[in-house]
Amino acid sequence: MNNFWQNLKSSFARWMAGRYGTDDLGIFTLLAGLILSLISSFTVSPLLSFLGLALYVITIFRMFSRNREARIRENQKYLSLTGTWSTKIRQFFRRMKNRREYKYFRCPGCHQLLRLKRGCGEKEITCAKCGHQFKQKA
Ligand SMILES: [Zn+2]
Repeated sequence: MNNFWQNLKSSFARWMAGRYGTDDLGIFTLLAGLILSLISSFTVSPLLSFLGLALYVITIFRMFSRNREARIRENQKYLSLTGTWSTKIRQFFRRMKNRREYKYFRCPGCHQLLRLKRGCGEKEITCAKCGHQFKQKA
C-alpha cells in the first residue's frame, strides 16, 4: 500500500515536471472562482456559475502550462496591479498580531510605518527612509 502511494507521488511529480504550478495569480483566480461558485449557488445565476467555472479553467490551465515565461509575465502584471494592496493587508494583519509586543506609529516626515518594542521608554528615532529625527514613547 505504501509502495502504491510512493508510485503515485513519483508519477505525479514526473507529470508535473516542467509545468508552471501555482503563484499569487493562480491563488487569486482559484479563490475568486470559489467565491463566485458559492454566490451563484445562492442566487441561481447562470452567468455567475459560468464565470466561476471559467476561473477554475483558467487556474487549471495556468497550473499545468509549460509556457513558464508567459505565466510569469501574467503573474508580474497581476502583482504590479495589486502589490500595494496585498502588502497593506499583510502589514495590517502583522500589526494586529504583534500589537501587544510593539507600538506602531508613522514617521512625521514621510509617513513610513515604524515600530518600537513596548516598554522601552522614550527613544530618539531616526527614520531609515527619510532621515527625519523625532522622539517617540513606547
Ligand atoms: Zn521618514
